[in-house]
Amino acid sequence: MYSSHSKVIKICIAALVLSSLLPGCSRFYLTIRPDTVAVPPVKYERKKSGNIRVALVKSAKRVGISSSREVKIYDMRTKKIIDRMRLTADTQVTLRDGRIMLAGKTLPAPRIRLVPAKNEYLSVRGKRYRGQIEVLINQESGGLLAVNYIPLEQYLFGVVPNEMISTWPEQALQAQAVAARTFALYKMSGCATKEYDLDASVNSQVYGGLDSEKESTSRAVLQTQGVVAMSNGKYIAAFYHSNCGGHTANVKDVWGSQLRYLAGSLCGFCDNGPHCRWEHQLTKQELETRLKKRKVIQHKIQRLELIGRDSGGRIQMIRIQHTAGHKDIKAAAFRMLIGPDIIRSTKFYVHSNGKNIIFKGKGWGHGVGLCQEGAYGMARSGYHYRDILRHYYPGVDIHKISIP
Ligand SMILES: [Zn+2]
Repeated sequence: MYSSHSKVIKICIAALVLSSLLPGCSRFYLTIRPDTVAVPPVKYERKKSGNIRVALVKSAKRVGISSSREVKIYDMRTKKIIDRMRLTADTQVTLRDGRIMLAGKTLPAPRIRLVPAKNEYLSVRGKRYRGQIEVLINQESGGLLAVNYIPLEQYLFGVVPNEMISTWPEQALQAQAVAARTFALYKMSGCATKEYDLDASVNSQVYGGLDSEKESTSRAVLQTQGVVAMSNGKYIAAFYHSNCGGHTANVKDVWGSQLRYLAGSLCGFCDNGPHCRWEHQLTKQELETRLKKRKVIQHKIQRLELIGRDSGGRIQMIRIQHTAGHKDIKAAAFRMLIGPDIIRSTKFYVHSNGKNIIFKGKGWGHGVGLCQEGAYGMARSGYHYRDILRHYYPGVDIHKISIP
């Protein structure tokens, strides 16, 4: 916390010295000040239970579920207990003729809830999870869907260590905890499917359950309990990414929608991050194969032209010149087509040495919202987690909500 004026001055001096080493950063350092304002409370908007629904398995023929003690099995149509049993390590929930079977026994319910004893946990595919597990038939795919019902704050214990390195500074971990909490509430308040709010993968937020929890990240969740970022009274779409390469992206260029707090801004703190720079080479043949496979082009590539850069240096459009003409494709779409871990960002240059096409770029991820390696840099420079959030989501309000 920054309660003394002298500490603020020291930080600003240090920041100004640092800014001379990082071109383009001085304006930022002069405008931001460490946070000293208490977080105002608001009323929690969501329904009473407060549980988040996380899809652990979206479509499978079988799901291994185990417990160290007896669990109650509920029929979710009647909400009555239909069985009690200990699920040994080799217990499988399977599907046969459109019906759910547990440990070889056909159940009279199309949707079951497994409830462990107090202070006990269920394992799904070998990973332990807090809360309860519901198994039902996915109406879209016909496979089994396994959903973890868990209080939001406990869910975050299993997210933050998978989204940020647990040994990072406390304020960076706290900023991540608030971003993850807000993102979850944003999904719950309008983007959820009928059966679950989000999944456990990079599509939403990586959730590894109980065994992935770390003391430092759980402490960051507890220390920011109920704190969220809001804009116009709504939870913000709190996107985050590894490294922005110096300037965050405008969400409009990446996904088309316009949001004031995701319009892109100077970062100033991630230049020393391990993922600030990248390089990848592909042969022309490899690039052609990938683009042909996705039906983007059908001819031989002659060259790539990069069209339009935004103020942060991200490419807007890529023109693929080929033997029968050209094809224009949005840079964000090109990145996903070639592979987001090959073309790590849309902030890059390209050149050819004849055989190979060499991509050289900055940043890793879509670039929208909070830059994690920037958050690390800010925390190391002495900023509070609320400063970090306001820097990457400009104009948002930080509130504390009460979660049941
Ligand atoms: Zn950054």
